[in-house]
Amino acid sequence: MKKSVERIEGDTEGVAYEFPVLRFEGSDKAAPRAYLQAALHAGELPGTVAIDALMPMLLKAEAEGRILGALTIVPWANPIGRAQYQFGDHQGRFHSGTRVNFNRDFPLMDRPDPALLPDTTHATVDQKLKARLLSLSLGHDIVLDLHCDDEGLPYLYVPAELWPAMADCAAAMGVAAVLLWQGESGAAFEEASVHPHLAAGGPLDRVVVTTVEYRGVADVDRATAEGDAAGLYRLLVARGVVADPSVPAPGPFKGVVTPLENIDMMPAPQAGAVLYDVKPGDRVKKGDRLATVVHRPGEQGGHAEVFAPQDGTILTRRSHRITRAGDDLVKLLGRARSTDARAGALED
Ligand SMILES: [Zn+2]
Repeated sequence: MKKSVERIEGDTEGVAYEFPVLRFEGSDKAAPRAYLQAALHAGELPGTVAIDALMPMLLKAEAEGRILGALTIVPWANPIGRAQYQFGDHQGRFHSGTRVNFNRDFPLMDRPDPALLPDTTHATVDQKLKARLLSLSLGHDIVLDLHCDDEGLPYLYVPAELWPAMADCAAAMGVAAVLLWQGESGAAFEEASVHPHLAAGGPLDRVVVTTVEYRGVADVDRATAEGDAAGLYRLLVARGVVADPSVPAPGPFKGVVTPLENIDMMPAPQAGAVLYDVKPGDRVKKGDRLATVVHRPGEQGGHAEVFAPQDGTILTRRSHRITRAGDDLVKLLGRARSTDARAGALED
């Protein structure tokens, strides 16, 4: 394994950002190559600690000559967001200088060719970071962008064009659900990673591109990290990046597979305090109460209730218990298209 450090000059004098890149050289030029990055939204760390738990397995494989395909790993993908604190609260989702989501507005290329990357000489620092991350990921068949939700089950966003070819990956990782999206996502890293393959019109059977949502933002603990690392390792073995005869091939994927349009986000009808009736993983029936928003405490009519618009599974819920009117409260994975379906975009 070799470590290098990427450096990005800041927008002002005297400021630069650095992040480490860990690389394994594969022994087989024909084997699939994998790129893993975590914490693009800088405060989302389940993927960072999963990578930490994965490394001893990869180092052992390297020592035993079992790394076939090259691996490029970026455990802290966003040193800019990492440094953003406002009044003591970490702000790792949007760049404070441009107000742009760190997982939007990546360059979209018509083929996976470094020559097509934009010139970032006069770009803002967050645009420089995005071009650098995309450049690091180019040339890899497997691109995993590790994120997390607020509170939730483990799930994947997958481009619909790559399904069901990626079912083995979902099974290997042991996620609960796969959300299929198509079209535009605001140029999230996932879209920027799959776009060159789709635009070039080549075969897609080796291509794995996904945004991995590793549960909730507070699910950062040793046992979970080791479980997620084992899932990543199974995926790498299943796709031939790492050789390990002791790892069985993944069986069929047994989780929920649904188009993005089937998600009900359930905006809060009032501002106030949220009392949830459900948690991630719960099955609900149409008409079940999901939450009560206490907006005039102690007063007649001071509660607003939120009911399930269809049968489904609770995938996520917000971790805070204070809400504005209109803030989304949960992701309900329904069987049918949501009447509130948001156009195409990934949530992360
Ligand atoms: Zn994220």
